[in-house]
Amino acid sequence: MSTTPVEEFEVIIVGAGIAGCAAAKAFGTDGRKVLLLERDLSEPDRIVGELLQPGGINSLKSLGLEDCVEGIDGIPCYGYGVIRKGETVEIPYPIDPETEEQAVGKSFHHGRFIQNLRKAATHTENVTVRELTVNSLLREDDSDKVVGVSAQSKTNEYFRFYAPLTIVCDGLFSKFRKEFTTKTPDVRSNFVGFIIKDLELPLPNRGHVVLAQPSPILMYQISAHDTRVLVDVPGKLPSVSTGDLKAYLEETVGPELPESIRVKFIEALQTERLRSMPNGFLPPSANQSVGMILVGDAMNMRHPLTGGGMTVAFNDIVLLREFLSPENVPSFTDYETIAQQMNSFHWKRKNYCTAINVLAMALYRLFAANHDADLEVLQRGCFSYFQKGGDCVDGPVGLLSGLIQRPIVLIYHFFAVAFHAMYIEAKINGWSGAHLSFIMFFTVLYTACVTILPYLWSEAKY
Ligand SMILES: Cc1cc2nc3c(=O)[nH]c(=O)nc-3n(C[C@H](O)[C@H](O)[C@H](O)COP(=O)(O)OP(=O)(O)OC[C@H]3O[C@@H](n4cnc5c(N)ncnc54)[C@H](O)[C@@H]3O)c2cc1C
Repeated sequence: MSTTPVEEFEVIIVGAGIAGCAAAKAFGTDGRKVLLLERDLSEPDRIVGELLQPGGINSLKSLGLEDCVEGIDGIPCYGYGVIRKGETVEIPYPIDPETEEQAVGKSFHHGRFIQNLRKAATHTENVTVRELTVNSLLREDDSDKVVGVSAQSKTNEYFRFYAPLTIVCDGLFSKFRKEFTTKTPDVRSNFVGFIIKDLELPLPNRGHVVLAQPSPILMYQISAHDTRVLVDVPGKLPSVSTGDLKAYLEETVGPELPESIRVKFIEALQTERLRSMPNGFLPPSANQSVGMILVGDAMNMRHPLTGGGMTVAFNDIVLLREFLSPENVPSFTDYETIAQQMNSFHWKRKNYCTAINVLAMALYRLFAANHDADLEVLQRGCFSYFQKGGDCVDGPVGLLSGLIQRPIVLIYHFFAVAFHAMYIEAKINGWSGAHLSFIMFFTVLYTACVTILPYLWSEAKY
């Protein structure tokens, strides 16, 4: 095996996806000598990262990357439509406090967006982009300190690169996560994705969530002719090769859809390739490594139901750039200062990531009620809460879109949903007095225990 000579950089970034490209642009612009390594620079064809929330758009702007959502046939998104048992409730994005106008997100083909991000990173001064697969992190003799990486080209050339800091952004199937944390993703379902051509959604320019049995279905237009469908399939995925998955989608999922969508959904199943991705939850970990930082899905994940992953990743890069700026950390060889800054980063990022992470997981629990009677009561209550409009939608959608960065707002709305669910239930069943108080107490306790407490607890841990 031949190894070519050593090259030195100030920071090596592993993975030119969402977080890696943004990090390369940020650190290169700040004058750091950056090496960005990506195993495959051709346009990715994936079913992930296709709706960017308004909060993510704001972060893109502060990174100088806002043009990357332009020129890719993307579709402006003004909020959501939630469909339950034939009823639809519209959930518009609130007023964006930065622009004082109605907030707008954008949906697009993931690969086209990534190629624009890669182009922006490549054209940034001080950034070198190479198509190489990183095989291992290099460590200083007799210590755990990461001092660089070894990498391999598609033609089996081998390279070693050295830098005082390596930022690993190798995504949800991260190879290097285990060198950083003992936490592993908790996967309870998969999204099965495919495209429906020329589908007219009930509420154009909105992401659609169908509250189906056993689990929710997402739909959003991602280009002039393409609408992305993501069907959540809980538990073990039926086999594609035996046709079981297609049969499941036709027989179990199809009948759950509004009639206006069902015909095209079934038609698309005959022609489109079905692809799947695991939906995992990975609570964040504080950085305790020397010479290495983990960001993006490699470090923290939530269910993609609310489309929050890219927004968290871009917010993280904005914050990381601030904490590791040349003013705060003049040299990346100053490991002590980096450790202090990363500790502050871990706690400060909770302002936005806790709400997005916990809301995604809690809403998933409610929306995938799957015939659980108590969860169905809460799901009905949640839907009716959204129907009230005003603050009952502005708060939750402000949190999931990354515009409201106060986790306390999340706690308030969750308990408000629980009480509202009980109120609706009491009206249906004619409960009153002591009976109502007793049921209410247990509902609130149950809501807390199954929907938010476990996730809040995992967020609160170091
Ligand atoms: C089904 C699904 C749908 C989703 N939909 C949305 C959505 O609509 N909106 C949203 O905001 N988020 C969504 N997400 C989440 C979002 O996709 C992620 O949060 C985001 O892509 C994370 O960015 P990242 O940079 O960490 O990883 P990625 O964007 O996956 O980038 C990782 C990069 O690292 C490269 N790489 C990996 N290993 C190596 C190696 N050894 N050497 C070199 N390069 C390597 C990969 O090729 C890749 O380019 C979705 C997730 C799933 C699973």
